[in-house]
Amino acid sequence: MNIEIIKRTDEEAAEIIEKELNRQRNTIELIASENFASRAVMEAAGTILTNKYAEGKPYKRFYNGCENIDEMEMLAVERTKKLFGVEHANVQPHSGAQANMAVFLYALNQGDTILGMDLSNGGHLTHGSPVNFSGIYFNTVSYGVNEYGEIDYDEVEKLAKEHKPKMIICGASNYSKIINFKKFKEIADKTGAFLMADIAHIAGLIAGKVHPSPVGYADFITTTTHKSLRGPRGGIIMCTQEHAAGIDKALFPGVQGGPLEHIIAAKAIALKEAMQPEFKEYAAQIVKNAKALAKSLMDENINIVGNGTENHVMTIDLRKTDKTGKELADILEKIGITANKNTVPNDPKSPFITSGVRIGTPAVTTRGFKEEDMFEVGKIIASAISVWDNETALNNLRERTQKLCKKYPLYKD
Ligand SMILES: *Cc1c(COP(=O)(O)O)cnc(C)c1O
Repeated sequence: MNIEIIKRTDEEAAEIIEKELNRQRNTIELIASENFASRAVMEAAGTILTNKYAEGKPYKRFYNGCENIDEMEMLAVERTKKLFGVEHANVQPHSGAQANMAVFLYALNQGDTILGMDLSNGGHLTHGSPVNFSGIYFNTVSYGVNEYGEIDYDEVEKLAKEHKPKMIICGASNYSKIINFKKFKEIADKTGAFLMADIAHIAGLIAGKVHPSPVGYADFITTTTHKSLRGPRGGIIMCTQEHAAGIDKALFPGVQGGPLEHIIAAKAIALKEAMQPEFKEYAAQIVKNAKALAKSLMDENINIVGNGTENHVMTIDLRKTDKTGKELADILEKIGITANKNTVPNDPKSPFITSGVRIGTPAVTTRGFKEEDMFEVGKIIASAISVWDNETALNNLRERTQKLCKKYPLYKD
C-alpha cells in the first residue's frame, strides 16, 4: 500500500485507511457482494488516468488529448467482448445501478411496466423497488421465490401474460439457485418483452464457467465489476449490436458525464485476470466453498433458505429461533465475521431487523479459504448462535476467526 505517500499530505485520512486495512485483514469477509481486488487493479485505480476528461465514446470524444484513454478504454471493451462473448460492451458505468439506469432509459418510457424480482425475495433496489428510480418512474410488478427458495417460472409467466411488461428483469442480489436464462427468454418472447439480465453477483461465476451465461438470451446484460468478478468498483453494460448505439447514448449523455478512466483501466486489468485459467479455478472454488459452508451450517441444524446453494451465496434462516438477522450480524461482527442482515422470503420482520443473514464466499475464496476452512467457519457461526451473549464463549470464537485470518494473510506486500 502507498499509505506513506498519503501520510505526507494527510495523516488523518491515512490513519483511517490503515485502520480499514487492518479491519479487512482481521475479519472473515462473508458479505456476498464484496471481494478483494488485486494489487494491480488497485494500483491502476490510483493512477494519473483520474486526471483526464473523456466524455463520449473512444475515438468520438468531446475533449482533445484522449489518444491514450481511447486505447485503454478499447482494451477494456475488447476484453469484455471476448470474456463474455458479447457483440457490444460499454465499460463506462460508474456502478451497477447506473448501468441499469441506462438500460431503463433506453428501453422504456416513463410509466411502462417492468417485471422484476421483489427486493425482499432477493432482487435488487434497481429492479423496481418503490424507493428507487426504477419503482418511482416505472410501473413495477414483482415475482418472488417459492418455499424452496426458487423462482417459480410459472408464476413469472403468469404475471408476464397478465401485465404485459415492456421489460422482464432477471438476476438478483440474494438468490442461491442457478438462474434459468433460457426459460426467462421464452417467457419474454411469448409476451413481447425485452429481457434484461443483471449478473452483478454472478459475473465472476459466469466468466469462470460455473454458471450458465445469459448471452444469446438477454437483450441487455448489466453487471458490476467489483463483486465475484473481483475488479474495481464499477459497472458494465453488454448488448447486441442492434442496441449498441442506443445504449451508449442512454449512458452518456443520458445518465452520466465523464467516465472514470482510471477505473476503466482497473476494469481492463480485472478482465485480463478473469481470462486466466486460475480464474476458472477460483470461480469453481467459490462454489465449492459455498456448498461446504452450507453443509457445515445445516449439519449444525441451522436452516438455510432453499436448503443449500448452487452458487456463491446463501441465507441463514432464523425464523425457527428467537433471534433476528440484525442481532446475528452484530454478534458475528463481535467475533470477527462480517455479514449482512437480510430478509428471508416472506419475512415477518422489517428490512431493518430481518429474520436472515446473507453470507457468501467470493471474498474468502480470494483469500485462499478451502472447504475445510469453510467447515470451521460454519461451526463458528453455529456456535455464535448457540452461545449468543456469553462473552467468554464469544472471545473463544473470536480467537478461532483470528486464527483463520492469520492462516490466509491479506495484501502481504
Ligand atoms: C450490487 C448490485 C447492483 C448495484 O450495483 P452498485 O454498484 O452498488 O450500484 C445492481 N444489481 C444487482 C443485482 C446487484 O447485486
